[in-house]
Amino acid sequence: MLNIEVQCCGLSILLVILYFSSTREHAGLTSTRAYQRALMMNTICVVLDILSIFGIVYSGRVFPFWVTVFVCKLYLISLVWACFMSFSYAVSDIGRTSRNPLIRFFFPFLACAASGGILVSPLEIFSEGRVVYSYGPAVNVTFVVGPLFILGTVLITFVYGKYMNPHRKQAVRVWMLIQIAAVGAQFLNRSLLLVGFSTSLGMIILFMELENPVNEIDRVAGVFGSQVLHEFIRQLYEEEKHFSGFILCTSDNWNMERDEEHELMVEIAGMLKEVTGAKVFRSTGNDFTVVYDEPGERAERDAEKLEERLSRRLTKEAGLRFVFVVVPDNRVAHTPEEVTVMYHHLRTGLFSQEKRIFVVDEKAAARLRNSKLIHQAVQEALEEDRVEVFYQPIYSISEQRFVSAEALARIRNRDGSLMMPDQFIPVAEEMGHIGDLGTRVFEKVCELYRNREAELPGIRYIEVNLSVSQCEDRGLPEKYREIMEKAEISPSKLNLEITESSSIQRRNVILDNMNRMKEYGSSFSLDDFGSGASNLNYIMDMPVDIVKFDRVLVREYFVNEKAKFVMDSAIDMIRKMKLKIVAEGIEEEEQLKTMAELGVDYIQGYYFSKPLPEEEFLRFLKEHGNAG
Ligand code: C2E
Ligand code: CA
Ligand code: CA
Repeated sequence: MLNIEVQCCGLSILLVILYFSSTREHAGLTSTRAYQRALMMNTICVVLDILSIFGIVYSGRVFPFWVTVFVCKLYLISLVWACFMSFSYAVSDIGRTSRNPLIRFFFPFLACAASGGILVSPLEIFSEGRVVYSYGPAVNVTFVVGPLFILGTVLITFVYGKYMNPHRKQAVRVWMLIQIAAVGAQFLNRSLLLVGFSTSLGMIILFMELENPVNEIDRVAGVFGSQVLHEFIRQLYEEEKHFSGFILCTSDNWNMERDEEHELMVEIAGMLKEVTGAKVFRSTGNDFTVVYDEPGERAERDAEKLEERLSRRLTKEAGLRFVFVVVPDNRVAHTPEEVTVMYHHLRTGLFSQEKRIFVVDEKAAARLRNSKLIHQAVQEALEEDRVEVFYQPIYSISEQRFVSAEALARIRNRDGSLMMPDQFIPVAEEMGHIGDLGTRVFEKVCELYRNREAELPGIRYIEVNLSVSQCEDRGLPEKYREIMEKAEISPSKLNLEITESSSIQRRNVILDNMNRMKEYGSSFSLDDFGSGASNLNYIMDMPVDIVKFDRVLVREYFVNEKAKFVMDSAIDMIRKMKLKIVAEGIEEEEQLKTMAELGVDYIQGYYFSKPLPEEEFLRFLKEHGNAG
């Protein structure tokens, strides 16, 4: 009876794993590829092990001696390479850049040198009953190199353990332990041929723990799961491969039954696979990521196609919004970490925009980076109370003194410099911070009144800006009323500046909010009139008390005939409606005179003063003898 039962058991296990591992779809992670190479090599090794036993037992009878020696040597070489592949599997987790030259060059060299050594060294065979083995210098080479690899593999799990997936680290250690035990047993008892079997045990442990391709698949959507995505992207960067892709972002609340949600998820995943033929992953939440293996325009084209299909499909799912973020070339993000950061940053503001397809090219990426920094700065300024309010005095032509001021936000940077609103307001608006920022400014204005009203002689009210999203917030009137009550100031001291909103549906909410605030006693200004978006209808619909002519319109008045007509007739109409007019951006005396002649009520601009910090503003009022 040949001593090959244990090897045959091992071989059958290996063949089964080989079948399942190679017939299932997988994302092509480095570790998976390394595992498959190790699996293949170990299978070859066990086959050669069995063949060499045949060779030794039947040497001289069925096979000539040199054939036996050749097969035995092939077996020894395959054993060295199987050890090397196992070692490579263990290091597959460690980033290329962090690998040292010993790993990158020494071990491959060792495997090559050992193979050469085995080929040229003499080898003898021994066979007596179940005791079958080869010996001699060629075998000794293997006995030295094999344990070196095992030792190296174990060392790797200690030295580079922090880079390794903890499961992989543990599984590799257990596997090596089994391997050492098998080699030891075989060394002590030559008839125990256990090494081939212990290898297959190691392979099955890894398969069950980490390398079963089914584990990569998301249970609901049937595409690759999010943990695979992270590893995959990291790997592409590591291998310096360039790629493109897109992310299908869906709004967070799908508002549907679980079953329905799953069904839709499967359907969307199916569409993505069908349209793109690329790798589809489910990323966080209900988002999907599609990765193409080269940069190019295909991602955008496919996203457009899908956008059409999805719009048709999702018409009935009210409230479910989706946006495609297309990345034509991954090089816009320098590291995989930056990909994640950009994605999260972008996603926060994504659904407040009308656009359905958002292309992240170099320019967009640069904007994104900048906006991320500003977003952070705003957040920190809010936390550390570095939001300041500057006041720009507003002059009444008829009373010839300052009757109000506009409150304008500034951020004091840590180094003491100022960040201006045109930098941070658009970002805050996009990222949903503007409400907090606006509220902070409003609170500070209320505090000023509460603490220093005596130093505001002649100031009837202060104008505070409201962003569009604040106007649409149903909780705003209540919140602002509470702030005013706490500061014990009359709502009539505050005038809120609104800008025109294009959305008709939201108009009703805004109108509702305005009416409630007016009931409390606050008044409203329509800001930026004449800057493009505004039209006269808006003034008629909205209960505003003041119209503020935009700086651009004022400037145009002096150079453009048409602007002159627009302004003349607008002034005529607004006065007939008994509303007041502020002209903004007045810088020169001539402008002031003309505005006065036209019948403008109030003047705001550098001609009188730039926006001033609180103390300077109070001093300004004092110096200008502002009391009525
Ligand atoms: P805005 O509401 O139209 O504010 C008037 C802007 O015109 C201010 O710019 C002011 O400094 C500037 N300005 C005033 N007079 C002159 C002038 O004679 N010449 C020139 N060249 N400019 C003049 P600022 O303070 O940089 O604010 C820019 C914009 O940021 C504001 O435009 C407003 O839309 C927004 N903003 C500022 N503070 C807040 C806030 O607390 N909340 C909200 N939602 N937006 C704010
Ligand atoms: Ca304003
Ligand atoms: Ca304005």
